[in-house]
Amino acid sequence: MGSIIIIAPPAAGKGTQSKLLSSKYNISHVSTGDLLRNEIKNGTELGIQIEGIIKSGKLVSDEIILSSLKTKIKQLKNYILDGFPRNINQAIKYDQLLTETNQQIDYVFYIFLDKEISKKRIISRISCNNCGRVYNTEIEESKPKIENICDNCNHNLIKREDDNEESFEKRYDIYIKETQPLIDYYKEKNKLYEIDGNLDKKEIFGKICSIIGDEIDNS
Ligand code: AMP
Repeated sequence: MGSIIIIAPPAAGKGTQSKLLSSKYNISHVSTGDLLRNEIKNGTELGIQIEGIIKSGKLVSDEIILSSLKTKIKQLKNYILDGFPRNINQAIKYDQLLTETNQQIDYVFYIFLDKEISKKRIISRISCNNCGRVYNTEIEESKPKIENICDNCNHNLIKREDDNEESFEKRYDIYIKETQPLIDYYKEKNKLYEIDGNLDKKEIFGKICSIIGDEIDNS
């Protein structure tokens, strides 16, 4: 086993599915977005440097991402990548890193979703700044039990600074231009599985698990 990659437009369920997989198979969840948001939350030099970029919906440079990611995945055997790679250059650099460390990609899940649905979900999405769980105020099964309070850790829920219409347009545009070419990249490597993001989160999870099977070797 090695890594699982999830590619999807904004709000298609990358984070949610990664968390479910991480808990079912007991493997690490590596979200590059969360790594970067933590830098901002902790007020580090890097956090100050990238705050404006993230808020505007643009991508952070490949150098920054690759160096944060290398540090994070060095000691991991199995992990889920949520939000990486975001472009072909990152995918090539990641392949080189895997060759150096004798690791491999096992599955790439592409969760597809129409732009309008993606946008609607982004506008009504709120998330927990503490544990990262996401909610949606317009989808009954995704609302928090108590308004604005995280079911998981009781912290207040916030609206991510990049979850607004303007940043969404930028993010979606970048997704189409830079991230979608990865679909063909991984198709050619016979790693790609396509999943309908319109399904509810349990159905999506069921489909992913039926592809992976029951067990992942964590030994
Ligand atoms: P996400 O949480 O995956 O939606 O990512 C939020 C933001 O973090 C993105 O809009 C980018 O600004 C930045 N980001 C996350 N992952 C990457 C990546 N692999 N490459 C460049 N920027 C990234």
